[in-house]
Amino acid sequence: MSISESAVAVAAPAVDHSGCRTAPIQHHPTWSETPSPWRLDTVLAHVGTATDPATGAITTPIHLSTAFGHPGLGASTGYDYTRTASPTRDVLQDALARLDGGTAAFALASGMAAVQLTVTTLAPFASRIVALEDLYGGSYRYLKCLADDGAYEVDFVVGETGLREALQRPAALVLIETPTNPMMTELDIARVADWAHAAGALLAVDNTFYTPVICRPLELGADVAVYSATKYLAGHNDVMAGAVVVSDPSLGERLQYHLNTTGATLSPFDAFLLLRGLKTLSLRMERHEANARKVAEFLRVDARVTRVLYPGRSGMVSFELADGVDVAAFLDAVDVFTFAESLGGVESLVTCPSVQTHADVPPATRAAYGLTDRLLRLSVGIEDAEDLLADLRRALDRAGATPA
Ligand SMILES: *Cc1c(COP(=O)(O)O)cnc(C)c1O
Repeated sequence: MSISESAVAVAAPAVDHSGCRTAPIQHHPTWSETPSPWRLDTVLAHVGTATDPATGAITTPIHLSTAFGHPGLGASTGYDYTRTASPTRDVLQDALARLDGGTAAFALASGMAAVQLTVTTLAPFASRIVALEDLYGGSYRYLKCLADDGAYEVDFVVGETGLREALQRPAALVLIETPTNPMMTELDIARVADWAHAAGALLAVDNTFYTPVICRPLELGADVAVYSATKYLAGHNDVMAGAVVVSDPSLGERLQYHLNTTGATLSPFDAFLLLRGLKTLSLRMERHEANARKVAEFLRVDARVTRVLYPGRSGMVSFELADGVDVAAFLDAVDVFTFAESLGGVESLVTCPSVQTHADVPPATRAAYGLTDRLLRLSVGIEDAEDLLADLRRALDRAGATPA
């Protein structure tokens, strides 16, 4: 029996996704339902331009006002209160929806707020969630909390094999990342979407590492694209933000209701910073990727490195230091790379997942999927590649072992 045949054998969906509470989606007046004939780089460069016909401003104004005057009883300019809708955030949300080919996007105060909105809106209480075990550590911790508290039944699985098996039973929501973090394993979104849908589940893909420049999950069959926009989308290590994008308008209306109700919306100022960052997204991704490729090639031939995990796209590279190379000394010796806990900014960072991003994943679980305490994760920035390679070479030299 082939993989797809076995998935189709699942019984009729047991979960009602229709939901009962919805709110209309607000699009900025410049939003058009028809796809733009522009190519991606043009769309990006023009994100948020000419949105204020009254003044002709080239960039989007930051509307800090939290309240908006009503023209009369029962009348509204379209804006009442900033938690519900903000003109600046609307421009951003329309751009995010367009970049992913969705009908609605939501900008939130952080990536974790985006994960929380997705889970609590789209998976009914006490329903079953299937998630990858090597998710971003914070997403793993959140789902683990929900499961421990009895709010959901959560099955953590490893890779496509684990997903296929777990989706033989009905579920409400599937949450994956591709590539996985920090093991950099790529998953086939279209295939996982088929298994999820056969199990009656919606598929949410955390697309933080690839961004819509490299991968558009909705076009591959996913129901929801989730982002920590703190990372590549904003790109400058200076704004915390999250995003949720959907193609089905009814899912959008439910997310809008829940987001307005729970309130973790992105502030107008941060929405502006994110609009500004998006303009250079594709240029930045090009350089991140070119530099990451050089870093991966450099590490692959160094005897002090036992393995290099790089999927060939984007700017994230994980690698494992050989026994005898002092991890602390390595982290101490880097200079162009900063030892810090984030990714996706123009400056290069190095993270030690076992004590930072993934510290809340039990050591046995981490070990089972190959995350050791000698594994480091690089977010390769847009600096000159020669400086990055020289920095890594110097740090390896200082970390104690001599190259073979
Ligand atoms: C950072 C990150 C998150 C969480 O986002 P925050 O903006 O830090 O809340 C979620 N998923 C992935 C893949 C991340 O890298």
